[in-house]
Amino acid sequence: MTETFEHLVVGKGMIGAAALRYLSCGSQRVAAIGPDEPVDAEAHDGVFSSHYDQGRICTQLSRDRLWGELTRQSMSRFGALEAASATHFYRPAGMLYIAPAADVRAIAALAHAMAVEHVWPARPDMAALCPSVALPAGHGALLEMAPAGIIDPRALIRSQLSIAMRQGASVIRETVVAAEKTSAHWTLTTDQGRQFTAKNILICAGAYSNCFGFFRRQIAIRVKSETTILVKVSGADAQRLSGMPAIAYQIDAPRISDVYLTPPLVYPDGNIYIKLGANTDEDVILQTLDQMQHWMKHGCRHPRQDMVQALCALIPGLDVSAVQVKRCLVTYSDHGKPYIDALGNGLFIATAGNGSSAACSDTLGSLAADLMLERTWPAAFQPADFSVRLMPDSPANPRLHPGEPG
Ligand SMILES: Cc1cc2nc3c(=O)[nH]c(=O)nc-3n(C[C@H](O)[C@H](O)[C@H](O)COP(=O)(O)OP(=O)(O)OC[C@H]3O[C@@H](n4cnc5c(N)ncnc54)[C@H](O)[C@@H]3O)c2cc1C
Repeated sequence: MTETFEHLVVGKGMIGAAALRYLSCGSQRVAAIGPDEPVDAEAHDGVFSSHYDQGRICTQLSRDRLWGELTRQSMSRFGALEAASATHFYRPAGMLYIAPAADVRAIAALAHAMAVEHVWPARPDMAALCPSVALPAGHGALLEMAPAGIIDPRALIRSQLSIAMRQGASVIRETVVAAEKTSAHWTLTTDQGRQFTAKNILICAGAYSNCFGFFRRQIAIRVKSETTILVKVSGADAQRLSGMPAIAYQIDAPRISDVYLTPPLVYPDGNIYIKLGANTDEDVILQTLDQMQHWMKHGCRHPRQDMVQALCALIPGLDVSAVQVKRCLVTYSDHGKPYIDALGNGLFIATAGNGSSAACSDTLGSLAADLMLERTWPAAFQPADFSVRLMPDSPANPRLHPGEPG
């Protein structure tokens, strides 16, 4: 039997879970369809996500005012979300920017413009401010104070979904493999052969948004391989580094750039790890579903030594004898902002996190829900900044309605 909803969200990742919660405030007939995290990635045949981890950095200063405002609004709701779901996911640990002097000046200017509380220490004062961190030669630093910090993305999703379900939403733990538009409604078919219909559907499938024929023409996204290392931290080091903020480090190195790291965090295996990620000269753009699956299951298998060395240089004395490598997917849009848009005929999109949308996922979900519920956006955000762009020359998908503009 086909179940019918008013709004269906495809993907219950960071943005989809938030959108579901907001939609569930406005309608009783809402559901999200998306699989749970696989237990064994290498044996997994389905889709992956960009949030299978314990730490995502929340900062208002990483990009520009618009990103800052998206994140500021999300962070302002974390306390209420934690309380409403009895789920702890947020640690306001602060965020340390380490960069050449001119770049630190630009970050300070953004902090002033956005009235973000920060400390911009002279080089000798760094030791008192962040005693565990060694400032590399030629670099300055700026500490963004709380509410900047760290969220546990899995726990934030649990929090969003539990509140949504309490408000009447359904969560269907399957993968959508086909979408079809008739004149009356959308029909979504899952990998379990079940069908669900709805007046409106919202695609929040992250890196996989182009893989299942959801759009008449493919949307303009680039999916990049992302490599991180997890360094196992001893109890003594965890204690020594307990006040450590999240860090973004503009490293001067031949083969890696844009280094970021989290403070020590407890992972599901019970161990404590510091995570370090970066762009690398081995990163690739993954063009097809097969390429994404191959990367997530069999890509980079050994930790890069330059990443380990970057960590050792920043945190002297850290024991780095147990290091693992992790693989992930980053989805970029054409204009550098997420796509949140209505494509017509009840088809909506909220995707392309550009590597920074865990922190602001709650705001992105609220904007998507506003679109679907025909509500006006808050004055800080203009739809034009989030318009979807289509891949030039991509073939039309015949399963969708012939008049469908998307
Ligand atoms: C290594 C790494 C570090 C990052 N660090 C940060 C950070 O510090 N701060 C920050 O703000 N952001 C960070 N990001 C980015 C952030 O994680 C993403 O922007 C965010 O997860 C995007 O949310 P999403 O909902 O678009 O995608 P996802 O969280 O990936 O969710 C998409 C969901 O769609 C589901 N799905 C896919 N296809 C289907 C289908 N056909 N049917 C049903 N469901 C489907 C997937 O299962 C998945 O759960 C990082 C990303 C990576 C990879």
